[in-house]
Amino acid sequence: MKYIAYCRKSTDEKDKQVLSIDQQLAELTEFAKREKLEIVNFVVEAKTAKTPGREKFAEVLKLIERGVAHGILSWHPDRLARNSIDGGKIIYLLDIGKLHDLKFPTFWFDNTPQGKFMLNIAFGQSKYYVDNLSENVVRGMRYKVKNGIWPVRAPLGYFNEPKLRTIEVNHEKEKIVKKAFQLFAEGNKSFTDISNFLHKNGVARRNGKPVKLEFAKRMLSNRFYVGIMKYAGEYYEGKHKTFITRELFDKAQKEIGKILKPKQGKHNFAFCGLIKCRECGASITGEIHKKYYERTDRTADYIYYRCTKKIKPCSQKPITKDYLEEQIRLIAKSVSLPLEWEKEWQGLLSEDEKLESVSIDQNIGRLELELQQLDEKLNKLLDGYLEGVIESETYKTKKNELFEEKVKVQEDISRIKSEGSSWLEPFKEFTDSAFSVSKIARAKNTSQDLGNLAKTVGSNFFLENRLLSPIFKKGFDTLFSEFVPHANSAIPPSKFLSVDDEGLEPPTSSV
Ligand SMILES: [Zn+2]
Repeated sequence: MKYIAYCRKSTDEKDKQVLSIDQQLAELTEFAKREKLEIVNFVVEAKTAKTPGREKFAEVLKLIERGVAHGILSWHPDRLARNSIDGGKIIYLLDIGKLHDLKFPTFWFDNTPQGKFMLNIAFGQSKYYVDNLSENVVRGMRYKVKNGIWPVRAPLGYFNEPKLRTIEVNHEKEKIVKKAFQLFAEGNKSFTDISNFLHKNGVARRNGKPVKLEFAKRMLSNRFYVGIMKYAGEYYEGKHKTFITRELFDKAQKEIGKILKPKQGKHNFAFCGLIKCRECGASITGEIHKKYYERTDRTADYIYYRCTKKIKPCSQKPITKDYLEEQIRLIAKSVSLPLEWEKEWQGLLSEDEKLESVSIDQNIGRLELELQQLDEKLNKLLDGYLEGVIESETYKTKKNELFEEKVKVQEDISRIKSEGSSWLEPFKEFTDSAFSVSKIARAKNTSQDLGNLAKTVGSNFFLENRLLSPIFKKGFDTLFSEFVPHANSAIPPSKFLSVDDEGLEPPTSSV
């Protein structure tokens, strides 16, 4: 059967719910393709349908009367008629058999008395239908997302499968996205690097330029890639296949965190942001002094650290970089492990690891049970909501809470699976760094090494009268034995004891 496609939008039509002419044309074309409708003529009108007397509409009716086509395709009945006269003409043509069918992407019509009745209502109350329609679209999207299907445009690496209306993996793009994640997770990559990488692989903006940095950032932090969808402020579990592992995704998030953290200072002073002035509480900052030597006609750079004195007047004097570094070495030595122990410790640790693998299984079992219980809670909550016992807002809040919890437990499981237990791995890391502290403290090193060393052992450093005193991180405080920064130091040794900020637990069987 042949159809005439009719699109209309009048200039006085402010209704945003009505698609533009272009959009109507696109939708109708797609709809015709899907439904295998043959369109013989496209008719476009830019006049209101509230009053009769539209030229193009009259043309359509004539074509139908002459038998050029037997069907009309339009976005919605209200595009055809919004007054009883035009509506009546359509119904009349149906009655006398000149018009066999009407098709609308948004309205189901069949040529029966009931169908004509519904159509009449649609002509008469089209505004009501349009309102209802947009509500139905929103409802449809919610329904989709609740069923684990992303309701809008699929992110890079996926496509919206038109027939099944699901989200499927685009295998060609999948590789590019995965590679981009891997590249970024390696570290020291910027969003620009990723944008350029995508560009090289044919992912670009419409004008052919590399995608915006915001796009790269959004892609790399999009939890859709690990199966979690956030839609209209709510979380849902996606049914789509994932190709980015949780581990890779987490690594990428860490890198994003590093990029987004504000950088300290223009110059690369290794100890900036690490030390505070004991007298006034302000930060200690680095500074380059240029000194000119007349005799040899040379200038030399000296690095000093000094109190910024930004809080209140302060009497503290600058300290040279060398003196500061020397003290950091001393501090590091005071908490380092004798290198001779390294072998023995590693042996003990590997035994602990064996024991631990048993308890890891138990831990995972417990977490999986927790997951099950959360699922049950979510189901009960949904039941309560559907039965009307729970308010929509309460439901939403509570559901997000439970979902966040669920995500956390899932993350715990995957973390334990990839990293092992909660204490053994951090403890291993700790002993490794304690041994490496010993090595670094003994060797000649760059300021950067010493800066990192300081960050490894201490959570805070204070400077007073050019003397540095640390607050050790947990673990290192137990190693701390005899470090006294200076005989006449005003700070009692108890001040060196740690704050509980690293969550390290002492080993149970190794020490
Ligand atoms: Zn100060």
